[in-house]
Amino acid sequence: MISVEEAQQLILDTVVLGGVERLDILGAGGRVLAETVTAAQDFPPYDNSAMDGYAVRSQDLGQTRLTVIEVIPAGKLPERAVGTGECARIMTGAVLPAGADAILIQEEVNVRGDAIEFAQLPQSGTHVRCRGDYHRAGDILLKPGTVLRAGEIAILAAAQRSFVLAHRAPIVAVLSTGDELVGIDGHLQPGQIVDSNQYGLAAQVRAAGGIPRMLGIARDDPAHLRECLESALSADFILTSGGVSVGQFDYMLQVLAEMAAEVVLYKINMKPGKPLTFARLRGRLLWGLPGNPVSALLCFWQFVRPAIRKSLGYPGTGWFLPNIQARLNASVSTKGDRRTYLRGRLALESGEWVFTPYRTDSSGDLVSLAGINGFAWLERGIAVAESGSTVPVLLVGEPDT
Ligand code: AMP
Ligand code: MG
Repeated sequence: MISVEEAQQLILDTVVLGGVERLDILGAGGRVLAETVTAAQDFPPYDNSAMDGYAVRSQDLGQTRLTVIEVIPAGKLPERAVGTGECARIMTGAVLPAGADAILIQEEVNVRGDAIEFAQLPQSGTHVRCRGDYHRAGDILLKPGTVLRAGEIAILAAAQRSFVLAHRAPIVAVLSTGDELVGIDGHLQPGQIVDSNQYGLAAQVRAAGGIPRMLGIARDDPAHLRECLESALSADFILTSGGVSVGQFDYMLQVLAEMAAEVVLYKINMKPGKPLTFARLRGRLLWGLPGNPVSALLCFWQFVRPAIRKSLGYPGTGWFLPNIQARLNASVSTKGDRRTYLRGRLALESGEWVFTPYRTDSSGDLVSLAGINGFAWLERGIAVAESGSTVPVLLVGEPDT
């Protein structure tokens, strides 16, 4: 059985960067830029005031009274040059008039009719933003590989780029398997449960930046499973859940073999999640996730999310969820036969990360997924971790801070 890290590496080695598409910048948040964006003009495009106040001439030393010759709002050009003994009322962002070289802020001024009085003139350049201070025409504003967040999108807007080239988000088909499953609106018969994995996984696909495609439920029947997998081949990635264990009706591996898939890995030294299967299927990547809801999601976070991020073009530092060292606030025990992940809640308490384990670690306990944000893990061979000891925690949600 291979380790979590070896499996992650094998999987990531198969993932290629997504192609390029043109996107409206409103829908480009979280995507990765696939072009260089340069400035068409200097910014600021003209010398302007950084404050509401008065445009003055700093060389008029010794002056304590000036005549106001005009009012310059933002968006209007000054009509006159400022001469000796003169100033202009000016608003933040308005064009600095000729002759003036500094701003006297309005808080330092007493208005006397059409003149102002003050203690002292500011130095040249005070509260003036000069043309090209922030960048010049032709400067690179954003490089390929930049993750587009609010700030980057504002830069694109300022550069009048309504559309940008970004890496495509992978389409991720999500298929559940199992004769016991009924769809979300189905009528539950005795012996059946609702297919929750498809929804939990689709939500995570979206959160990771992929585009989920719901493929429904495949019956525990090789022919039907094969038909469903064929229909998934239009996606980039395929996620299945269930049917990868050693039960009599677990047909995933058999069907993958029939379809001549190349199984890259099967079985990982972790609990839950051991039966994870990863294969190449006719140019697509397929993850056979375990059926238990907690196992399926943990495997998603560990093995699928990094692949989605890589394919989106994120830098390597953005592929994995963070691991945080935290103090356990209750003792935990495991069988010690595999690396074991224990769900719970990570919180920052008086500057220290503290992990509270959830009361059970049954991988079928769906309700335990509500409110957890992390998985502490104990390496194989470590069966007990005492309260107060330090453990690594895989952070899968927002930490309490
Ligand atoms: P399997 O790996 O197919 O044996 O499934 C393992 C466990 O996970 C069984 O208890 C299944 O009923 C459950 N399970 C499988 N698929 C789903 C699903 N889509 N939603 C909720 N539970 C599931
Ligand atoms: Mg099953």
